[in-house]
Amino acid sequence: MMLDLQILKQIHGFFSSTFLLVVLVVISYIGYFYIRYKYFNLKVVLPSIPIGVVNKILREHFGYYNQLTESARARFISRVLHFIASKQFIPRQLDEVTPDMKVLIAASFVQLTFGFPQINLMHFRRILVYPDSYYSTISRRHHKGEVNPQHRLIVISWKNFTDGYLNKTDSINLGLHEMAHALQLENKIRNKEYNFLDTAMLRKWDVLVAREISKLQQGESSFFRRYAGTDEGEFFSVAVENFFERPGEFKQKLPDVYAVLVKLLKQDPLELFQMAV
Ligand SMILES: [Zn+2]
Repeated sequence: MMLDLQILKQIHGFFSSTFLLVVLVVISYIGYFYIRYKYFNLKVVLPSIPIGVVNKILREHFGYYNQLTESARARFISRVLHFIASKQFIPRQLDEVTPDMKVLIAASFVQLTFGFPQINLMHFRRILVYPDSYYSTISRRHHKGEVNPQHRLIVISWKNFTDGYLNKTDSINLGLHEMAHALQLENKIRNKEYNFLDTAMLRKWDVLVAREISKLQQGESSFFRRYAGTDEGEFFSVAVENFFERPGEFKQKLPDVYAVLVKLLKQDPLELFQMAV
């Protein structure tokens, strides 16, 4: 009887120490990934679309990607996959959001932010994709795209998105336009990705923007289309479209605005074109 009790104690001791060990291992494992994600933003991402497929889609349809060196292309693909993994793509009036759509919409954001360490636009969780312009029940108007920080979503109409990239030099690009809105908002929303745009540069930018908006509103001729004069947000988005679609003319006509945008976005499309192989 005494012996039985001792054996039972030993068995109990073994299991409690094993249990403790398992608990410690699980906690360390969770802790490791939590710290990786929280402090280093290194989320583990398994490619939802094979890398070869992503490369093929970008090679065929994305001019910016084709200008990059081989190592930069690998970085670009990694960012595209991270972006896709962090978003919920929702089809509207469509059967599905296809891999092509996901890759190219993500690529538009990666293009805009390629000068930064990875930004994932974490406030915006959902991307709604319509086949064409759609009627918004919120604004009661037809839209080609919109960014809604309150509902944490970005809306893209696919036809207008592809038109933006098909005509590469008309300075109309819906993807870049909406992503620029989202980027500017993300910069102001207090989260891990808060305040990544250089504050001193933003101050310079605000002064230049006020000057250009006043020109636009007084009907003076401007490098930008009239819509840029709507407000500071629209000005930034239109400036981004011009920055990537006709950088040479932009720099020539408004060198001070162009120079500040290079510093704000930490990249110069003109150098990218020169770098191209
Ligand atoms: Zn806009």
